[in-house]
Formats: sequence, C-alpha cells, structure tokens
Amino acid sequence: MTNVAPKGPRSLQVLLVDDNPIQLSLLRHLFQRHGHMTIEARNGAEALIVLATEFPDVVVSDCVMPLLDGYQFCRLLKDDRATRHLPVLLLTAQGTGLARFWAKTCGADRFLVKGRDLDHVVEVAEALAEQSPRPRTAHAIPKLAQENFGVDAIQRRLAQALEQRLVETALRDSIARLYTSDHDTPHLIQGFVEILQELVLPGAIIVAYLGEEGLWCHGVHGSSSSTEDRQALEKAVAEQGLFQPPMNCHWHPASDDDERRRSLRDPVLRVFSATTPGYPAVGSLAFLTERRSAEDFERLFEIAAEELGRLLCLEDSRLRLYHQAIRDPLTGLYNRRHIFDMLEMELDQCTRFGQGLSIMLMDLDHFKAVNDRFGHATGDQVLSVMAQRMAFGLRKVDQLGRIGGEEFLAYCPQTDLEGARSLADRLREQVMRDSVPGLPPQDRMTLSIGLATWEGGEDTAERMISRADAALYQAKAEGRNRVAG
Ligand code: GH3
Ligand code: MG
Ligand code: MG
Repeated sequence: MTNVAPKGPRSLQVLLVDDNPIQLSLLRHLFQRHGHMTIEARNGAEALIVLATEFPDVVVSDCVMPLLDGYQFCRLLKDDRATRHLPVLLLTAQGTGLARFWAKTCGADRFLVKGRDLDHVVEVAEALAEQSPRPRTAHAIPKLAQENFGVDAIQRRLAQALEQRLVETALRDSIARLYTSDHDTPHLIQGFVEILQELVLPGAIIVAYLGEEGLWCHGVHGSSSSTEDRQALEKAVAEQGLFQPPMNCHWHPASDDDERRRSLRDPVLRVFSATTPGYPAVGSLAFLTERRSAEDFERLFEIAAEELGRLLCLEDSRLRLYHQAIRDPLTGLYNRRHIFDMLEMELDQCTRFGQGLSIMLMDLDHFKAVNDRFGHATGDQVLSVMAQRMAFGLRKVDQLGRIGGEEFLAYCPQTDLEGARSLADRLREQVMRDSVPGLPPQDRMTLSIGLATWEGGEDTAERMISRADAALYQAKAEGRNRVAG
C-alpha cells in the first residue's frame, strides 16, 4: 500500500482483485499514478477477508479467478447489507456473450473489457465512488467476516445468495406474467394478491388502484384475521393519500388450512405505495403479517411493491388509451366509432335471441345560434351540459354516444317503437326543464329526436340510422322540440 501526492479530486482507497500478478501491478500503478491508495487480493475469497478490516471506496475486480470468482464475489457483496453500497467495477478479458450478461446480473455497477477499456478504468472507478451513497451507519462487519471465512461458510452464503436471487427473479417473473396474459383490472389485482398471499398469511393483504373507472380494492385474509384487522389495513391504505374511505374493498377469505387458521403472533402492518419512477402513484399495497415473516421477506415485499407499481402504471396507461380511443373528450360520452360498434354488437344479439331494439337520433335545436350569440366556448359548455342531461335521462341499459357536433345517438335494447317514443318524449321534456349555465336564465335548449326500430332479418344499423335521420328531419321540419318516427 503506497500513497502518492494527490492529483485528482479526492484520494480514494481502491480494492484491486486479480489472480494475475502482472495485471494486479498494472492496475496498482494506474491507480497510484492518479493519487489513489490500493489494497490487493488475489481472488474473491481473499477480498472478502480484506473487507472485514478495510473499508475501500470502490472495488475493481477480475472475473475469472480461482476459489471465488468475480461474479460470485460480487453477488456476496451485494447480498450483504454491510457491503451492498460498495461500488464494484468488474474487469474481464472478453467483452461479449455470457461474460457481459453475468456481469450485469450479478449486481456489478460497471463492466469494462481489459484490453479495450483499461485506459478508462481509473476514471470510471472515480465516477462510481463519487456517485455511490455512503452508508448511513458506521461500518458494519460483513456476514462472512462474522463466520471466520470458512470455505463452508462461503459456499453456504453463496448458495443462499443464489437462492435469494432465484426467488426474487421468480417473483418478478410471475408478477410480470400477469400482465402478458389476457386480463382485466380486477383479475390483474386478484392475481397479484394470490401470488403474494402465501408470504403474508395467516395475516391479510390489500391492494388498491385508482384508475379511469374509479377505485379497485381487493383483499385476501386468513381465517384468524379480524374485521378490525381489515379495517386497519383499509385505513393504512387510505392514509397514503390516494383514496378516501370508505373504499368498498372486496375482501375474500383465503382457502382454509391450518396455517391460515393459526392466530397472528406479533403482527406488523406495512404499507407500500405502488409507484414507478416518472409516473404518478396510482396504487397502494398494505399487509398484516407476523413480524418474523415481515423481516424474512422484506426484500421480496420491496420487489413485489416495485412490480405492482409497474403493473398498475401499465394498466393505467392501457385504460387511459382505451378511454381516449372510445370517448369523446368534450362530453365524455362514447365517440361515433364506438357507439356504432356497440350498436352493431347489440344487433348481433338481437338476431341471435330475437329481441327488439330501437334507436334515437337526437339533435340540439338552433344550436348554431348559441355559438353565434355567446361564442364557441359557451357553445362547448352548453353541449357538455346537455350531454350530461341526456345521459342522465336515459335508462341504465340504454347507451349514448356523440356522433357529430350537436348530434347524438342512443340505442335502447328490448324496446319497441312505442316504448322508445315515450322514453324520447320524457327525455326531451327533461333536458329543456332547467336553464342552462352560461345562457340567460329564461333561455332553454331543446332537442329534436328521430326514432327507428329494428325490423329484424335483413335490417342493418345503417338502414336504421337512415330511417332515424329521415324522422329527425321531419321533427325539425314540423317545428323542432319534438319526437318523430
Ligand atoms: P337545427 O335546429 O336545424 O339543428 O339548427 P342548428 O343550429 O342546431 O344546426 P346546424 O347544423 O346549422 O348547426 C350546428 C352548429 O353546431 C354548427 C357548428 O358550428 C356547431 N358545432 C358543431 N360542433 C361543435 C362543437 O364541438 N362546439 C361548439 N361550440 N359548436 C359546435
Ligand atoms: Mg342542431
Ligand atoms: Mg346538426
């Protein structure tokens, strides 16, 4: 270990690990020339021993070495709280294939190819040391140092580290798979809860998601968890600030076995916000479980929360895009294409089950005058208000869309012409009853409505609309504010 007058910004302590003495001395000279101190080890196992007493700022390690290679050494470092923060730069002879892949997946912070990138090794190591956060607590002793570095201990730790990685990977994989299968939002959340419930039972778990369609909240609990436990979870999720209680959570008892009937010992409640960097939070996860499993599975819960964040943000984007694709932005009603598609599907049902259906084509009367008198912005506001009134005036089974500027189409399943006429008349009277915000209080907006009913057999959506259009024209011609057809 030698020290040379500092040249660079900060003098670092660098742990160099390589089984080749020539390579080691080359690295030593490179770092010392830049004013850094070096400590050396000839393989991963030696390096672990060094780390019991030394606290370097960065590790620069070869990959292929006897006893404990660079990847295994790196896995052990990243698996141990005491050394996780320590940046690792791996050097290898090859720049392609598995070498590169393992370097990335064993947790190394950077990867350089010996022959090609060695000129940058000091620069890269300095940058890594600069970026890496210093541990918050005083230097902790690595787990292996506490076990005196026996070969058995190293092998056991290595096996544990690999096992842990395997479990983490399997967990990420099974959660990610939920999204690739055909799904809807409730199934997605339910699937996630099913994957996680084995880790939290006999407690309870709850997932909430606030999306375009409102709040989805799904929970599963073991038989020993009480109503109070469930309320506590709902409250914890609500306190994340995304949702207001009551959440109307759908709770399901988990399938019963001894594990789940066992009462909770020393329960702890944990809440995670399901987020993805760069995306607003849309969901939360909370669970109640025994302190022991909360500690044992801590890393898995963190991963699950991270994956849930990703899952819900994807779902959120999907629903937003779908919503945008089928809705008219001004009124929030279905757009022309979607209401036509829905009508076609409904007519298929009518053909199959021999049921009736009627349509209403609706047009606001003298709407152009609103624009002309009060401006386009007021016109938009009036359109939006009238659309809400129409939606409100129809029945739950009826569907309504905006098919043009101030033209709307509704279809009414299992409704004959008589039924449609009385519905249309009621609707017409309802929408003109109150004054319209933005217009003088005495002014009323009225509707003309053209009706058509499905005639079975050869009849089509297109023909029905053309009949309804003719009826609408007649309603306009007869003085507006009326129903025809
Ligand atoms: P009628 O009683 O015969 O239906 O008369 P009208 O004035 O309602 O019908 P017309 O078809 O002559 O005019 C419709 C007007 O609706 C013309 C157009 O500028 C306006 N319009 C269409 N889309 C929008 C919109 O999105 N916002 C606003 N503010 N106006 C719109
Ligand atoms: Mg009009
Ligand atoms: Mg019109």
